[in-house]
Amino acid sequence: MRNDKFHGRVQGTGRICNAPGCDEPGEFRAPGVRSAGFDGPGDYRWFCLEHVRQFNSGYDFFAGMTPEEILKAQSPLAGWERETRAFRPDAGIDQAPRWADFADPLEAIAQRAKARRADHQKAADAARRGISPDERKAYDALHLAYDADRRQLRQSYSELVRKYHPDRNGGDRTFEGRLQEVVEAYNLLKGSALFA
Ligand SMILES: [Zn+2]
Repeated sequence: MRNDKFHGRVQGTGRICNAPGCDEPGEFRAPGVRSAGFDGPGDYRWFCLEHVRQFNSGYDFFAGMTPEEILKAQSPLAGWERETRAFRPDAGIDQAPRWADFADPLEAIAQRAKARRADHQKAADAARRGISPDERKAYDALHLAYDADRRQLRQSYSELVRKYHPDRNGGDRTFEGRLQEVVEAYNLLKGSALFA
């Protein structure tokens, strides 16, 4: 058995894995870019179990990346881009339910069919009002009805930004993907002729 140069698991710190694109909790400490020596104690990186194992086996996550890219990958907001995937942690909160939410697969199929029918109706309604598919997504992200006015747009935006901001959630990053959607949706709609 090889000597483990990493310290034990440290949970509940809110650290995120430093491996680029990974948004698992960073619970395992590994030597940082600067190692201990005459200049001081050195710094550390924090990884999830999978990535600390890869790191331990000599894999360099940062190979081929510029210092700016490494910095970005290690920033507290790293991983934002990936949060828009279908199966992000909060996928079941106010979107179509996840398969795992159902004990009975037939119930899941029925729910999906129902959601599809409702979606077709909404699409037809939006088309009648001259709302594009991108704008539809923005309305959904902001929980806006298609007849919302500029005041409702601003109100909904400011409510959702407060709701999803990590500062309002004890640093919990669960809602960062939602926050990003809300900001993008607002930027799209506030410039749209629909809200002129
Ligand atoms: Zn990781």
